[in-house]
Amino acid sequence: MEIADTHEHFFDERDRVTQRVDFFTLAQGYTISDLVSAGLPPELSRVIRNESAPEMERWQAFEKYWKYTRYTGYGQALRIAVHDLYGGKEISASTIPKISEAIRTRNKPGIYRYILRERGRIRFCVQDDSCGGCIKIGSTKENFELFVLARRFDKFIVPATPSDIKQLEAATGVSITSLENLNRAAEKSFEQNLAEGMSVVKIGLAYMRDLHFEEAGKADAERDFEALMRADSPAPQGFRTAFVRPFRRLEDHMFHHVMRLCEANHVPVQIHTGLFAGNGGVITNSKPTHLINTFLLYPRIQFDLFHLSIPYQEELGILAKSFPNVYADFCWAWVVSPELSRRALGEFLESVPLNKILGFGGDYKYPELSYGHAKMARRSIAQVLAVKVESGFCNEQEAFEIGKMLLYENAARLFAWREGKAPSLK
Ligand SMILES: [Zn+2]
Repeated sequence: MEIADTHEHFFDERDRVTQRVDFFTLAQGYTISDLVSAGLPPELSRVIRNESAPEMERWQAFEKYWKYTRYTGYGQALRIAVHDLYGGKEISASTIPKISEAIRTRNKPGIYRYILRERGRIRFCVQDDSCGGCIKIGSTKENFELFVLARRFDKFIVPATPSDIKQLEAATGVSITSLENLNRAAEKSFEQNLAEGMSVVKIGLAYMRDLHFEEAGKADAERDFEALMRADSPAPQGFRTAFVRPFRRLEDHMFHHVMRLCEANHVPVQIHTGLFAGNGGVITNSKPTHLINTFLLYPRIQFDLFHLSIPYQEELGILAKSFPNVYADFCWAWVVSPELSRRALGEFLESVPLNKILGFGGDYKYPELSYGHAKMARRSIAQVLAVKVESGFCNEQEAFEIGKMLLYENAARLFAWREGKAPSLK
């Protein structure tokens, strides 16, 4: 069955095929975070990442912690990718050179279509090209045959210094000397991104702050803007930025400004909730229930909540159950925790309307790993549905129809995917 993929961070294929890619490149996609949690020290992490280091030196640094992490979801996706796509039956000292050679041989134009369409049976991906405020699209027309474009406006929402404001001026050509100008710059960027083919807005703000955005008064937001431009108070540093937001009123105001643009233009909004990439994130900032006022304020926006909100999957299930405009998205989830995701899906099937569940998003930079992730998602969804059939919840034909909704139809409807509908890239 062909499936939809609600979330990816792929490079443009033209850039990807000029990169040096080998086994350790693929191993860095999330897997290395588990190695760090297992105790990988920074100096060995640098060896693994060092493309010029001898392969066996990199392997020795990797192997010591890989033995603890090869069974996690991240480890599973890596093993499936290497096994199915590059003939690596095992990952070991003796197979690493051959695997890397196979990866380099395949790294040619056409690789995305081969891995995603032919091998992964993925019909389309929502591509988050992650530049939080610019207009430049990182992709070419050919790339877009497979993609729906998601763009971010986070930089308009959380500027913290006058130089952040300068960057926004450079990106939009709007001179920003007041809150009103900042609003105008966000509008201009939004219009330009729409013209470039943007179909979805992505909010990644939980990496920076909590997701409760109050309805800030204009005067308070203006005061914050002026304080930001004066740059006269010491800014919080390091992890403290996740807790202390000196310009919170401005941020809240700008968030709602962006939401109003989405509402007016009928653009769905994808929001990062739940755990973070990397190690040591402030998980409580990303609780999906922080967003309840937002769901109530914009009933016409479709909100796609990412990553099963792990570890707040129960909150997410109840939000998708009670808000007509909230979707529960399993992107990234099957590799974060296959067992937790299966349990959540088993619960959702008996509590959440079927059209509100988005069953798969890869969330990788390299499509090889999305291939591995997609295989894990298909397998787990099939397992959950098989148990449901056995218990008499539905019959086999109904289970197949449910699978199609979760893995294709719901996403195709939400993102208005049509064959050959590439964004209007210039
Ligand atoms: Zn992502």
